[in-house]
Amino acid sequence: MFDAQPAPLHDHTLLTPGPTPIHPRAMQALARGMLGHMDPEVFALNGEIQADLREMYGTAPETFTALLAGTGSLGMEAGFSNLVESGDEVLVCANGSFGQRMAEMAERYGARVRLVTAPLGEAIRVEDVAARLDGKVKMVAVVHGETSTGVLNPVPAIAELVRGSGALFTVDSVTTAGMEPFRMQEWGVDYTYTGSQKCLSAPPGVAPIAVSDRAFARFAARRTPPPLWYADLGGLRDYWVNRSYHHTVPVNLHFAFHAALRAALDEGLGARQARVKQVGQAVVDTLAPLGFTPYVKRPEDRLPTVLALRLPEGFDDAGVRAALRRREISVTGGLGPTAGVIWRLGLMGESARPAPYLRLMAALEDLLG
Ligand code: PLP
Repeated sequence: MFDAQPAPLHDHTLLTPGPTPIHPRAMQALARGMLGHMDPEVFALNGEIQADLREMYGTAPETFTALLAGTGSLGMEAGFSNLVESGDEVLVCANGSFGQRMAEMAERYGARVRLVTAPLGEAIRVEDVAARLDGKVKMVAVVHGETSTGVLNPVPAIAELVRGSGALFTVDSVTTAGMEPFRMQEWGVDYTYTGSQKCLSAPPGVAPIAVSDRAFARFAARRTPPPLWYADLGGLRDYWVNRSYHHTVPVNLHFAFHAALRAALDEGLGARQARVKQVGQAVVDTLAPLGFTPYVKRPEDRLPTVLALRLPEGFDDAGVRAALRRREISVTGGLGPTAGVIWRLGLMGESARPAPYLRLMAALEDLLG
């Protein structure tokens, strides 16, 4: 019997690098009820989502955009499964866990991977990409914001190299799209994806993608069908452009995503970029006296949406985070080699606001002071 409702989470302060707190407009939209995935109203809403995604990504007017029914990793996987064929040379920039995930996926789809790496906490060096790039490379792939270390990679400078090389350019914009400048057309990006639960503060479960005409031409010239049926670009185009059935899309997540993206565009992309910077700087300044210091050395390499802070000497990472969690505040530690060394504070979407951070500061003062 359902006699006890789980407690509502309004009072939970979620400061992780994703998922982020759900935007109130998305929460409302989620509860609208259900329509069929082939309903004319859903197709009309999908059309609005596609147009809004073009604005968010800064694409050409006719660029194909869509939502995949899955998280950011499906966005990543769809790029390799559709645009890489067995034996293709793919240059992957990997300076953290998500760059490594890209390399692993590319390999699973048969690519011969050329890795460009950088030490943890440092950005990929454009000269290193130039040294490994030649006419044989079919795709260059890079993570814009490396969530595992809080590093912003120099995508516009890498884009300049890739343009004219003949390679497709894939950019993971999971922690950047909607909150950091992203100019798909101007930079010459061919494929990008994010996750709904990051900078847009929608529930997890859909991955917004954008695909250039060049990428579609590469897809059309494949020798073999893409091995991942579910995210086949042809099938996706059938649903999103020709309005014919491919698979049942998560309609409620489309409602919520539509509302969250509209809220972001209503606020203005520029205003959001300014908000992240302002709140992030205030957090750095406030935590400095407690001994937290930026993990990424060069200021220009710091990812504004995921603040990586080195913990003070002798800090009880697990103990403090558990104490915060008992007070309904979630923060995230390092990943792999940075576990116990850093905290990663999310400044994406609704988490990039003063109120939740003031709550964290008050709790920390209480626990440490
Ligand atoms: N790429 C980056 C940069 C990420 O931060 C993440 C998740 O944190 C992913 C890809 C994978 O996304 P998801 O966990 O939504 O599958």
